[in-house]
Amino acid sequence: MKDSSREIAWQLGRTRREFLRDAARMTIGTGLMSASPFLRAATIAKKRKVIVVTFGGGARDEETFAPEGQGNIPHMLAELIPQSSFFTQVKNSGILGHYVATASLATGVYETLNNFAAVPPDHPTVFEYFRKDLSRPASDAWVVAPSNGFNRIGGSGCRSYGPGFGAQVILPKHLLSAASGGKGTDYDHLLHDNYETPLYAPQLAGGEFEVKQLEKILKLSVADFTLHAKTLSSPDELSVYITKRLMQQESPSLLWLTMHDIDIAHSGAFSLYVDAIRRTDRLCGELWNAIQQEPEYAGNTTLLILPDFGRDADQDAGGNGFQHHRTGDIASRTTWMMALGAGIRQGMVYDTPVQSIDLVPTLGAIMGFDAMQSRGKPIQELV
Ligand SMILES: [Zn+2]
Repeated sequence: MKDSSREIAWQLGRTRREFLRDAARMTIGTGLMSASPFLRAATIAKKRKVIVVTFGGGARDEETFAPEGQGNIPHMLAELIPQSSFFTQVKNSGILGHYVATASLATGVYETLNNFAAVPPDHPTVFEYFRKDLSRPASDAWVVAPSNGFNRIGGSGCRSYGPGFGAQVILPKHLLSAASGGKGTDYDHLLHDNYETPLYAPQLAGGEFEVKQLEKILKLSVADFTLHAKTLSSPDELSVYITKRLMQQESPSLLWLTMHDIDIAHSGAFSLYVDAIRRTDRLCGELWNAIQQEPEYAGNTTLLILPDFGRDADQDAGGNGFQHHRTGDIASRTTWMMALGAGIRQGMVYDTPVQSIDLVPTLGAIMGFDAMQSRGKPIQELV
């Protein structure tokens, strides 16, 4: 990175820290630990569960952490951040398309695959390292993905790993569309596949989670599923509903949820973008509460929340402000991450620059597998 870019990224991180200090009145840098998070380390290691949530397609500080945006994220500010280790400078140096960026987060390598093609990541995913190294069954790693374009994210094209070691992928929209038997009009608001290229409709590979598995694995009848879907207002609500069901029925140790509602910003409607941020904030709070209420998860789960990338700044000549993420400016590349739960120090804010590709080796250090092809490195503050 050029010196000036590094300086801007650093400033963004520092400002974010100040926003947090004012908003969450955090005891920054000293920690709020009342007891050592490592106290039950031995028990935790055996039953340790990790849930990764990507924060909806990226939002700017103006609508989140800055004083004018804080009203949109009350759950994160009041409930989650005070008990988390928060990183103010997470740099994404890769391609800013949602599938390719999420694949990069999942492999720990900046993938260069075509964002709009039904192809697997080139490098092993976190699910493959986890399952192969730790001899875990397919039922122990799951992905809940926002659009049909993510159907190959569970397993890479790497020969020594591959889908046989991958995660099972649920595409809630695909399920709902199949379950409602084409009577889509009741569910149009839940079935919008992606917000950037409405005409892109990838062929599904056939290995994805199908309607008949709703009953078998999620213990959910098609009738109950479609009835419940009617009460939901967005695709991410549907994804969180499925995620909670998975937690109850399968209790996977590695669970990855990609949220995407915020990307409705591409439509240009600022109010829909802000509504989506508020909803994502609420859903993150709901998921944390669900973790506390599920016996398989309470006390032994680490939750990591991070965006795939940000959105353009207002002042960048080539960008469109909140609407897009096309310029690759520093604002759209400098995001954040919070980690909370088992093994994580509470009330900490770190300005240390980290990379999107550091996530996978960090999970490796936490869960005990070797992410050998990742180009990132474990984040020391979390391991
Ligand atoms: Zn987008």
